[in-house]
Amino acid sequence: MSHARPPDNRPAGRLLASPNFGERRFRRRPDCLILHYTGMPTGESALKLLLDPASQVSAHYFVWEDGRVDQLVDESDRAWHAGVGSWKGETDLNSASIGIEIVNPGHDGGCPPFPDRQIAATIDLAQDICSRWNIAPERVLAHSDVAPARKRDPGEAFPWEALCRAGVGYWIEPAPLTGGPLFGHEEEGAPVRALQAMLALYGYGVDLTGVYNRQTRLVLAAFQRHFRAQRVDGEADESTVATLKALIERLERA
Ligand SMILES: [Zn+2]
Repeated sequence: MSHARPPDNRPAGRLLASPNFGERRFRRRPDCLILHYTGMPTGESALKLLLDPASQVSAHYFVWEDGRVDQLVDESDRAWHAGVGSWKGETDLNSASIGIEIVNPGHDGGCPPFPDRQIAATIDLAQDICSRWNIAPERVLAHSDVAPARKRDPGEAFPWEALCRAGVGYWIEPAPLTGGPLFGHEEEGAPVRALQAMLALYGYGVDLTGVYNRQTRLVLAAFQRHFRAQRVDGEADESTVATLKALIERLERA
């Protein structure tokens, strides 16, 4: 197993082989990093699940609150963390990605902050993975980005800005909050389709129906959790749309 190398001041992680993995389809090389929170009351309970063959779930890495990093699946193998999802039209995200589970009880546990040591360890681990696999910053994703109808993790309390400042992932200062929703529910028209097209261009799995429907609002909520966490209501407001536009424009200039 290739193991991440934690700095000397951090307790050493362990290699704990999860049985829940397979081969990457078509031996696909991972070019995407997906971040999760564990969403369970304790790290121990989450780890037990990820090591249990009956659960059929796993991740490559597991980051404890104190910054310890355990490895559960070899990076070359396909861990079972993303489930049904979509990004840039690709649906087998387990074959395309490396997955990190970060211990945090999540929304059901009141979205407590992620400790600094845990974030520092996540940054070190992600830097190492992204450089070794040449993963582009905009392909460091939330589980909620790839599965907006099912997942909310790692949640709006996750410090994407701190990661970006450390060179991990892609994030920009969101446009200031102004005004309310631009569309009424089930409203139909070219502006709605244009918004859906921008979300799809960025990578989200959204149908270009031209209708401001439930799927579109779930995707908007996922976008807000990652990029405009000041208000996560799943409504298209000026700030959300401007932030999305700015992200796309900066990527296109790069
Ligand atoms: Zn997840």
